Amino acid sequence: MGQITLQGVAKRFGEVEVIPPLDLTIEDGEFVVFVGPSGCGKSTLLRLIAGLEDVSGGRILIDGKDATDASPAKRGLAMVFQSYALYPHMSVRKNIAFPMKMAGMPKPEQDRRIEAAAKALNLTSYLDRRPGQLSGGQRQRVAIGRAIVREPSAFLFDEPLSNLDAALRVGMRLEISELHNRLKTTMIYVTHDQVEAMTMADKIVVLQAGRIEQVGSPLDLYHAPKNVFVAGFIGSPR
Ligand code: ADP
Ligand code: MG
Repeated sequence: MGQITLQGVAKRFGEVEVIPPLDLTIEDGEFVVFVGPSGCGKSTLLRLIAGLEDVSGGRILIDGKDATDASPAKRGLAMVFQSYALYPHMSVRKNIAFPMKMAGMPKPEQDRRIEAAAKALNLTSYLDRRPGQLSGGQRQRVAIGRAIVREPSAFLFDEPLSNLDAALRVGMRLEISELHNRLKTTMIYVTHDQVEAMTMADKIVVLQAGRIEQVGSPLDLYHAPKNVFVAGFIGSPR
């Protein structure tokens, strides 16, 4: 549960082909980082996987099943945005409950999942606050909590830490890595930060202008970059 396969997936906006056809397989339970410079198509690729954009060509398989035309809700994936996208007028509890409420989940099950997520993310004492009364790191945890309660087969993160200051970023990086170790759920994590990619990933996908330059473990990329772009971007000696 949580294998994602892209077969010839492409995206054009009008005349512009932002993502030429690409192939990629993400294995169940992997922590995969999409890294590359601003504008290279990381968010677009993640949005295609999430179903928030339609592909211009190719197929997306989730656990072997064709999900190319499935609605975002049907894909069983949970996206965590950089902007958190929390409802300011709702308590933390209600923000986390929202997707479950929409799905018509029975209240006792909602409460059980909220308690578990709050405990895992150190949010138990903040459940009755509103997002405006939280720090940036706490808001990011709420956004992650709202993803966890859906028990998705994969988490999709789009530069989740880019609004946090440097010190907090390091802490949240560890928290997300620990969460992955605990849940063992597939995570796709988009960043333009090489350090995040090198420290968090099982597998790094280096993108440039919508193309995959190289796929490999942090060590592979560091010791055997395929080209000057990867070497320069990862910072390996060459
Ligand atoms: P990244 O996340 O790597 O910074 P994006 O995926 O946001 O890059 O964008 C990749 C390219 O696609 C950019 O050139 C961007 O301007 C373009 N793009 C993204 N979304 C749209 C859109 N809705 N309409 C037109 N062009 C878009
Ligand atoms: Mg982006």
